[in-house]
Amino acid sequence: MKPAPFSISITAPDGSVRQSLLGMDRAELEAVVAAIGQPTYRANQLHEWLYRRHVDSVMAITSLSHELRGRLAETATLRTLTLADQQTSTDGTIKFLFRTHDGYNIESVLIPSEARDDQDEPKRRTICISTQVGCPLDCKFCATASMKLKRNLAAGEIIEQFLRVQDVAGQKITNIVFMGMGEPMLNYDAVFRAVALFADPGNDLVPAARITVSTSGLVEGIRRMADEGQKIKLALSLHASTNGLRSELMPINRRHDLTEVMDAVEYYYRKTRRTVTFEYILFEGLNDTEEDARRIAKLTRRVPSKVNIIPFHSISFTNPTGISARLHPTTRQQFDNFVAMLRAHGAQVMVRSSSGQDIEAACGQLAVKHGAERLE
Ligand code: SAH
Repeated sequence: MKPAPFSISITAPDGSVRQSLLGMDRAELEAVVAAIGQPTYRANQLHEWLYRRHVDSVMAITSLSHELRGRLAETATLRTLTLADQQTSTDGTIKFLFRTHDGYNIESVLIPSEARDDQDEPKRRTICISTQVGCPLDCKFCATASMKLKRNLAAGEIIEQFLRVQDVAGQKITNIVFMGMGEPMLNYDAVFRAVALFADPGNDLVPAARITVSTSGLVEGIRRMADEGQKIKLALSLHASTNGLRSELMPINRRHDLTEVMDAVEYYYRKTRRTVTFEYILFEGLNDTEEDARRIAKLTRRVPSKVNIIPFHSISFTNPTGISARLHPTTRQQFDNFVAMLRAHGAQVMVRSSSGQDIEAACGQLAVKHGAERLE
C-alpha cells in the first residue's frame, strides 16, 4: 500500500482542489504561504492557529487580513472529517464516528476518567485514536479485523480526531493511546508525524510521556521507534504465552514469532529505558492457566514492564469460525486468580477497565457496522 500523504487533498465537484493544512509541519506550511506570496513568518502563525488554537476554518485565522484569508481558503481547508455520530456510555465513555472525505467511517473513543488501579492522577482523560480504516492483520478476537484494510489514515486525519474530540470534551485531554482501529506500525510515517505534532511543546497538546503506541508486534516498527527517539511509550499486544496459540489468535505471529518480538522489545528497552506495557486478553480455558501465568511472567520479566490484563470483550456481529468460536471471557473468579498468580510470579499487573462496552467502544469492539464499505 502506498504511504498516506501527511495531509489530504479534496477535489470539489467543480474540479477545484483544496488541500488540508492539518498534518503539515512548519516546512510544509512555509511552502503553502510562499505559494500565495507571503513571508515565512506567516507559516509560524498558521502553525499556531492550527495546532494551538484549534481553529476549524481558514476564515477564522484573524491574524491574516480578510483578503489573504479569502485567497488561502480557495486552496486550503482545515477539516476533512465529518462527525457522523456520537454515543455516550453509561460509564461516561464517548464513541465518535467520523466520516472521511472519501466516504469511509472511522471511530475514536474518549475515556473521561479512567478508574484504574494504578491511578496516580485522578483526572486522566484519554483519547483512543484510529490509525487505519480497518486493519489487515486479522486478529481472531478483534472486531476491526472484519473490515479488512481499506486505507491508511493521513497524519491530518489522525490529528483531526484529537482536535474534534477535544472540542467536545470540554476539559483537556491528558493522554493519547493509539489503540483504535488499525495497526499503527503499518502506517508508521503518518502516525509518527502526528505524534511529533501532538508532542511539540509549543502546541500544548499532550506531552510525549503520555502518548502510547500499541502494536501487535511489527518488529521493524518497534526497532525504528526505539532508534528515532520520540519519548513516547510502547505497548505490545501479547495475548498468548506460546507461539502455537499466538499464531492461531494473531496470524502476524507466523511472520514475527514471540522470540523475534521479544528481542525487538528488549532492544526498545535498552535504547530508551522506558517501561513497556504488555497487553494480555484473558480467554477462558485458552490462555488463563497457572502455566500461562508462569510463562507470561517469565517472558515479560525480560524488561521492566507492566502487564495489562484485559477482559475479552465479546464481539456481537461476526460469524465466528475456527478459533474465534472458542473465544469466551474468563470467569470473574479465574480472572482474579490469574492476576494473583501473575503477581505471585513477580509481574507488575494492572487490570484494564472495560469502558464503553455497552456502546461497543471497548478495546477490540471498534468496527463500523454501517459503512465498513465506502459510500459511493
Ligand atoms: N493494532 C494495535 C492497536 C489496536 S488494538 C495492537 O494490536 O496493539 C488495541 C488493543 O485492544 C490491543 O491490545 C488489542 O489486542 C485489544 N483488543 C482487540 N480486540 C479485543 C477484544 N475483543 N477484547 C479486548 N481487547 C481487545
